[in-house]
Amino acid sequence: MKDTTKHQGLRRQLMETLRKKGISSAEVLQVMTTIPRHFFMDPGLVNFAYEDQAYPIAAEQTISQPYTVAFQSQILEVAPHHKVLEIGTGSGYQTAVLLGLTPHVYTVERQQELFKKTQRLFSQLNLRPKKNVFGDGYKGLPDTAPYDRIIVTAGAPKVPKELLQQLVVGGKLVIPVGVKEHVMFRFTKTSEKIFDKESFGNFRFVPLLNDKN
Ligand code: SAH
Repeated sequence: MKDTTKHQGLRRQLMETLRKKGISSAEVLQVMTTIPRHFFMDPGLVNFAYEDQAYPIAAEQTISQPYTVAFQSQILEVAPHHKVLEIGTGSGYQTAVLLGLTPHVYTVERQQELFKKTQRLFSQLNLRPKKNVFGDGYKGLPDTAPYDRIIVTAGAPKVPKELLQQLVVGGKLVIPVGVKEHVMFRFTKTSEKIFDKESFGNFRFVPLLNDKN
């Protein structure tokens, strides 16, 4: 796959759209300007890579809308020394954006097919998350906890307590919560048992699935 000047132009236009929709983080926009989203799309849909829309990928999942990726990345407030856990690798696009913000990225996906796909894609693109794991993100990733930041990219019916536990004090969890419609929440761990909770409006995600569904 190639990243042509045409793709780069479309990407700059998309960043302008995101800016107009309220994305203000210079770091996030800069990183997203450099990542070819068409590398992460289903082959039949590459022409839509620079539309601000979610699209189907394998295993009935979706690549998140660029606005959503930018918004979650922005409110996650990632610094270059942060250790970040992503739940829901999916296409790997959000993982690539996180890797533009910090080298310390851990990502978990529960669909075998997508996990295998991103394993190949990451090595082709020379993207190196510290860990790319096949597993159930409801449980977080205890072996390498704690994390400074955790981002969930699927809609959670409730907030998994394991994720809150696996944050450092001062750490943040960004998670869409709900059943059909999701509200974006950011939890900040202010002490071992106390969390500050902020909400950021409605979004729509594919569901975060557990062992039973
Ligand atoms: N970040 C992705 C979003 C993919 S959609 C992207 O930009 O492409 C959400 C992803 O979460 C899907 O791939 C889905 O399979 C995955 N997922 C759902 N439940 C999960 C769970 N319990 N643990 C880990 N991943 C899960």
